[in-house]
Amino acid sequence: MSPAFKLNPEQSKAVEHGEGPLLIIAGPGSGKTRVITQRIVHLLTGAGNPGPGPALLPDLRTSAPAGEEYAGAGIQPENILALTFTEKAAREMQRRVRESLPEIEALPQISTFHAFCYEVLRKRHFERKLLDKVDVWIFLRQRMESLDLQFYQKLAEPGAFLHSLNDFFSRCQDELIEPPDFERYAVAMEMDFQAIAPTLDPAERLLLLEDIQKKRELARVFRNSRKLIEEAGSSSLGSLIPETVRLFDREPEVLESYRQLFRYVLVDEFQDTNYAQVELLKRLVKPPYNITAVGDDDQAIYRFRGASHGAFKMFDEAFPGHETVFLDTNFRSTRRILRVAEVLIAKNDRYEAKPQLRTSREEGAPVYLLQSPDFESEAAWITGEVARLIQHQTPPGDIAVLYRAHNHRDPLVEQFRRRKIPFAIRGLSILSTVILRDLMAYLNIIHSPHDNISLTRVLLTPRWNFPEELALEARGQAWRDRCSLYDVLESWERAGSAHRLAGTGWPHLHRLLGELRKYAEHASVAALLQRLIGRLELNFLPHDPDSAYVAAFRKFLEKWEGKSESWKLDAFWEYFQYFREAGGQIEAPEPAGSANAVQMMTVHAAKGLEFPVAFILSVASRRFPHSEQKPVIEFPESLRKGPPPPANIHEQEERRLLYVGLTRAEDRLYVSSVAKPGKKPSVFVSDLTSNLAVEARDMERVQVLEAPPEAVQTPRTEAPSPERPSARPPQGSLFGEATDGPAIYPPLAAWAGRTSMIKPEEKLQLSASALETYDTCPQKFMFSHYLKIPTGPQPALTFGNIMHQCVRRYFEMRRQGPVSFEPLQAYFEQIWKGAGFEDDYQEQAYKKAGLEQLRGFVSRHESVTLLPLAAEAHFSLDLGDVLLEGRIDQINPLPEQSVELVDYKTGRPPSQKDADKSLQLSVYALAARDHLHLNPTRLTFYSLTNNEPVRTVRTPKALDLVVSEIREVAAQIRKQLFPPKPGFACKFCDYELICPAHEETF
Ligand code: SF4
Repeated sequence: MSPAFKLNPEQSKAVEHGEGPLLIIAGPGSGKTRVITQRIVHLLTGAGNPGPGPALLPDLRTSAPAGEEYAGAGIQPENILALTFTEKAAREMQRRVRESLPEIEALPQISTFHAFCYEVLRKRHFERKLLDKVDVWIFLRQRMESLDLQFYQKLAEPGAFLHSLNDFFSRCQDELIEPPDFERYAVAMEMDFQAIAPTLDPAERLLLLEDIQKKRELARVFRNSRKLIEEAGSSSLGSLIPETVRLFDREPEVLESYRQLFRYVLVDEFQDTNYAQVELLKRLVKPPYNITAVGDDDQAIYRFRGASHGAFKMFDEAFPGHETVFLDTNFRSTRRILRVAEVLIAKNDRYEAKPQLRTSREEGAPVYLLQSPDFESEAAWITGEVARLIQHQTPPGDIAVLYRAHNHRDPLVEQFRRRKIPFAIRGLSILSTVILRDLMAYLNIIHSPHDNISLTRVLLTPRWNFPEELALEARGQAWRDRCSLYDVLESWERAGSAHRLAGTGWPHLHRLLGELRKYAEHASVAALLQRLIGRLELNFLPHDPDSAYVAAFRKFLEKWEGKSESWKLDAFWEYFQYFREAGGQIEAPEPAGSANAVQMMTVHAAKGLEFPVAFILSVASRRFPHSEQKPVIEFPESLRKGPPPPANIHEQEERRLLYVGLTRAEDRLYVSSVAKPGKKPSVFVSDLTSNLAVEARDMERVQVLEAPPEAVQTPRTEAPSPERPSARPPQGSLFGEATDGPAIYPPLAAWAGRTSMIKPEEKLQLSASALETYDTCPQKFMFSHYLKIPTGPQPALTFGNIMHQCVRRYFEMRRQGPVSFEPLQAYFEQIWKGAGFEDDYQEQAYKKAGLEQLRGFVSRHESVTLLPLAAEAHFSLDLGDVLLEGRIDQINPLPEQSVELVDYKTGRPPSQKDADKSLQLSVYALAARDHLHLNPTRLTFYSLTNNEPVRTVRTPKALDLVVSEIREVAAQIRKQLFPPKPGFACKFCDYELICPAHEETF
């Protein structure tokens, strides 16, 4: 519902406020943006409340000539600065002011804080390249050796801590803390430690010392990264505000020129400001402090982006005696919705003396509190209700489904698809769309033909007519010969086995890739993409969503070209690997026709929007409120300059987020809670029902029954049809006898869900690592163990192999007598292989770590007298229909004919819990007992990283249990149950590009 056109008394008061600081606390749906834009208009025109009707403003053509001061106001557009947080919000404010003042020659400066600061710095200094969060990650990843990292690096994943480090530095910058300030803090901390060190017990001393070393590393890396960025003529986004504050402090005449210019400063979404931004504002305005801050503390939901929790407190302190106006009339929601929302938010600490929201709207429908036993039943019920609403003439575009995190929508998407309910998802990345994944697979194999995963994806497309049996054979050979799939296919083509490829599109694909590879040597990536699309004969219709996705990717390429020195594929490929590793996403444009589709988005994305009907999805424990994720590197409390946060700040922010969700609804609101019977529901359910009177009058509970399996399960092989006729090439294509059918849209879901790979009469060959892979993700197990898709080189494995060989060599040498480090070092150098590392930095880091670990290993084993009984002992244990195979790293003798089984580890040192629960150690023990007929009384994980063993045991009962677990997994495998298990492991999964779980097929 749109607000009445006439300003109400509070709005008028805010708009017409004269001189001096003004704080406008604007509740949801109270016309905040309208007030801020009308205040700008008022300042420019001196117009009061214009009364109803379209003549909101005086006719500027008659009231004042363009470019001259407007009568009654005396303010020129350039005297006004309006700041906000997003480009979108700035554009919207500009649009509204322009709409109100069509005759104005130039608009006031309306921009984001960052854009304003960038402009100030640019005018004073020189053109800088601006690095956003992902750019900073990539920039630092390319210069790791200059950062001098020790604690904050992982060998297998060199960039693992870069985001955490950058977040920490941004956090410092939000508090105006510079590298020298942090260095002083670290030094002071060390001095305090020295003073008390003698009084501490050794364990405590060690812990504190490590903490100090970490702080010193942070100080060093903060300084180094800042220096590197500045030397490259760049600035990080996070540094713009502190740099501007520093400039103003250093050069008062520059500040004065801005103070003279901006007679009025307005800030939208003030609740999202941080200490540095408030300091900037304090500098920018001078007496009589004509600053207007508009916001709502109840809608502060961006702490993760650096917003302070205490923005209004800081405003009170900075501008004491300011006027406060409460916009407490809500034009959006029914009374019932507002009362329920108020019950929730009243549980939080709020800006004092805040009145309750009012509305002139009707009571409306009750707020429905759904109570579902599981997420599938929730999805089924909501789908039914959405279908019913649509049937009763609610346009789909009037319905919104809001969720806390993207993956919470999955069961609902599945249900919408089944019921053919149109939906549009906001905030999708084009990188998960089928078309982009297809195009990237082609670009990958043009750049790196030996990329087995990309080639697998391409060969699956109908165009290349490559039978799966043949692909399996080729992949099997690649696996055995330790070469790539591309190598195998090329060799078949060259040698006498070319007939195997007859009838497939491989020769044509091979020629096409060769041609494009040649073209890529001198063409830009944008031109290469164009040619690729042409050669694949992809003709997108204008309304095809793929057309918009490809256009967004072209824009991304353009942006990359603007910041890259080379425009060629090599440079892009390297950039893009880092971009993905850094978690970079390319937001998909809103699909055309989404007004006729149910709107799905996160609650964060819904801020500022409104919908006649809103569903808040999955208000469940650990989902909403979301579990707190503490920053990897905590900001020291003693350095905080703004007000201290409340102890339950996370829960309060989550509550505000739900409040934002509730207040998006205009007419109908459904809050959907999920809790298994007997389990605790989300704390927000008790909040919402804590006022008995409101619950009785304004809410209606809906008990959702468990949905029957057939209502929620999609048959395994059922895949949404990915084909889009517009992109189908014509028959009889460029490639002569090549097949028709598209060269994109591989039927991944059907392929990954196919059956009959396992012959019932054959024994299942399993190993501990295969069982562990199945446990991590059955789909991954299928890719690696049944489809046998070889992956690329894996640094951690390469390193692990080398270290294992060295350990074996050490004990061989020990049989001849004492061994010093040097011969082992010589052996290590001899077998070191350069291949298999991400880059030189990683290789050198691994090499250095390997040598340090071996030195520690030699020194620790100097006094060991008993030598191993066996190394790399193979076993093959027959468990009936399962053949359990593997290799025990080392078997050591123990008294009374018993043995110790050792597994060497090269990554993160395992914990006691890891050892106690390890399936691998259990399998070793089982094999040693039942196949090698030994008595394993001790099982050891030996970490080469810290040269410490972690020991455990397995009782006969525990081993029997392991056998039944193995049989259970084997039964699942025989039933060919390979569902994807998306989660944390996907980050490190080589099969992501061919995994249906990562494919958005709508
Ligand atoms: S990407 Fe994730 S869900 Fe897919 S196979 Fe890999 S681990 Fe499994």
